[in-house]
Amino acid sequence: MPEDSYLHKGLRRKLIKILRDKGINDDVVLEAINRVPRHIFLDNAFLEHAYQDKAFPIGDGQTISQPYTVASQTSLLKLEPGMKVLEIGTGSGYQCSVLLEMGANVFTIEYHKSLFEKSKQMLQSLGYKAQFFCGDGSEGLARFGPYDRILATAGAPYVPQKLIEQLKVGGILVIPVGDQKNQKMLRLTKVSEKEITQEECGDFRFVPLVGKDGWNAKTNKI
Ligand code: SAM
Repeated sequence: MPEDSYLHKGLRRKLIKILRDKGINDDVVLEAINRVPRHIFLDNAFLEHAYQDKAFPIGDGQTISQPYTVASQTSLLKLEPGMKVLEIGTGSGYQCSVLLEMGANVFTIEYHKSLFEKSKQMLQSLGYKAQFFCGDGSEGLARFGPYDRILATAGAPYVPQKLIEQLKVGGILVIPVGDQKNQKMLRLTKVSEKEITQEECGDFRFVPLVGKDGWNAKTNKI
């Protein structure tokens, strides 16, 4: 495993400045990002680019999200230590590590078996403790719900009703919704069992959320 050198730490501090300049001002989120060695989550070919504000391929046609996207989604969650969080789309495990650094109790689910195995092993070797699942997270993970927060890190065609059902009252769901090229970041708050508020929080571009309440992985249709 690559070491976390002074060079990497210096590059991370520069990345934090870039994120601040782009409007991220949540110090707790930025400190968590500053603690996670992003280069360790990338294939060797991309090592030297790890602290650029860019997404990179991680295999199976998937990507590690851009740091700005991770910072934005994490800020929108209004996370507090000890909260129970469901992350849909473990991918590289990078976003999961940021949530863990903030003291969350994370349940994370990944559709692709190879990514599930790789990220689980990687996070465990770094000493991070989360609950890992392999499967279709478009319907959430009902048996461990309800959750304080749900974060989807893949683009959905619509907001799956089951995710709202698996939120606690007062809970927040952050999910990019749109077509397969562009999505609006939505933040839904479950004000009461019957009332949901929704905010639009900018334009983003994610890989598709596939599965029963997502895009069909073979036909690219709903
Ligand atoms: N959070 C990830 C990270 O930090 O690397 C981002 C990964 S990528 C942008 C989105 C991930 O969502 C991919 O790994 C993809 O396989 C996964 N995904 C897509 N649909 C899914 C589903 N229905 N259930 C679980 N994971 C899904």
